[in-house]
Amino acid sequence: RAKADGKGAVRCFTRDLEDEYNARLVQEGELAAAIDNGEITVVYQPIADLFTGQILCLEALARWHHPTRGQVSPATFIPVAEASGLIDRLGEWILRESLKRAAKWPSSVQVNVNLSPQQLVSGLFPKILANILQETGLSPSRVGIEITENIFVDFSDNVLVQLSAIKAQGVRLVLDDFGTGYSSLSYLQMVDVDGLKIDASFLRQLPDRKVEAIIRTVTRLTADLNIHLVAEGVENVMQLQWLRANGVHFGQGFLLGRPKNSPPVDWIDHLP
Ligand code: C2E
Ligand code: MG
Ligand code: MG
Ligand code: MG
Repeated sequence: RAKADGKGAVRCFTRDLEDEYNARLVQEGELAAAIDNGEITVVYQPIADLFTGQILCLEALARWHHPTRGQVSPATFIPVAEASGLIDRLGEWILRESLKRAAKWPSSVQVNVNLSPQQLVSGLFPKILANILQETGLSPSRVGIEITENIFVDFSDNVLVQLSAIKAQGVRLVLDDFGTGYSSLSYLQMVDVDGLKIDASFLRQLPDRKVEAIIRTVTRLTADLNIHLVAEGVENVMQLQWLRANGVHFGQGFLLGRPKNSPPVDWIDHLP
C-alpha cells in the first residue's frame, strides 16, 4: 500500500509540474497577445503629503483584464513577463503610457514607474527612457523610477552604469519596498537614490515597540541623507497619526487613495 501511495505521489507530482508548465505556456502566449489587444492598462495611486493632503506623485501600476479569468494581479503576471522575456516590451509600453498620461497632469505632480531588474539585462533601458522622455516632452524631474532591492541580487557594473545613466537624465531613483528582501545599508552608498519607500509590512505591525524603532530610524536615516521617505500601505487613521507624530511626511495607501484609472491629481480631500 505504501508503495502504491508512493507511486501515486510521484505521478501526481509529475502531472502537477506538467500542468504548471502548460499553464505558464498559455499565460506567456496570452500575455504577449494581451499587450497587443489592449487588455493591459495602467492605474495610478497617489503619494501624498500626510499633513496637507497634497498629491506629489502618482505611482503607475499595471493591470491585466483577462477576457475569461478576469483581473490578474501584477504580482502574478510581472514574474511571468520577467521569466519569458516579455518584460522589456511590457515595461516599455507601461513607461510610455504612464509618461504620456503624466504630461496631462499639473506640472507639480510627478509620476513613478516600477522597473524590473530584468529590464536592465539588455542594457537598452536608459536609451528607451530617453526616447520616451523626448516623445512625451515630460520634464525628467517629474519622473521617478522605482527599483527594489532585488536589483542588487545580480548586481554588476552594467547595472550601476545604467542606474547612473538614468540619474544623469535628471530622473529620480526610488528604492521601493525598503527593509524587506536583501536589505543592506551599503546599497544606499552604492547607488545615489532620491528616495526610499518603506515597505507596508512595517506599518502593518503598528503598534509595536521594535517596528516603531525601525521606522523612526529609517526616518532619521533619510533625513540625514537628505532624501524623501514614503510610507507604503497607509490603511487607517491610527497609522496616519503615528506617521505624523513621528515626522514621516509622505505616504501611499488605501486610506489616501486606491489605484485608479483616473485618480484626482491635486488633493486628497477626505484626509482625516
Ligand atoms: P509596489 O510597487 O510595491 O506597489 C504597491 C502595491 O501595494 C500595489 O499593488 C498597490 O495596489 C498596493 N497597495 C497600495 N496601498 C495599499 C494599502 O493600503 N494596502 C494594501 N494591502 N495594498 C496597498 P499591485 O498594484 O497589486 O502591485 C503589486 C506589485 O507588482 C508592485 O508592488 C510592483 O512590485 C509590481 N508591479 C505593479 N505594476 C508594475 C509594473 O508596471 N512594472 C513592474 N516591473 N512591476 C509592477
Ligand atoms: Mg512600486
Ligand atoms: Mg512598493
Ligand atoms: Mg511594497
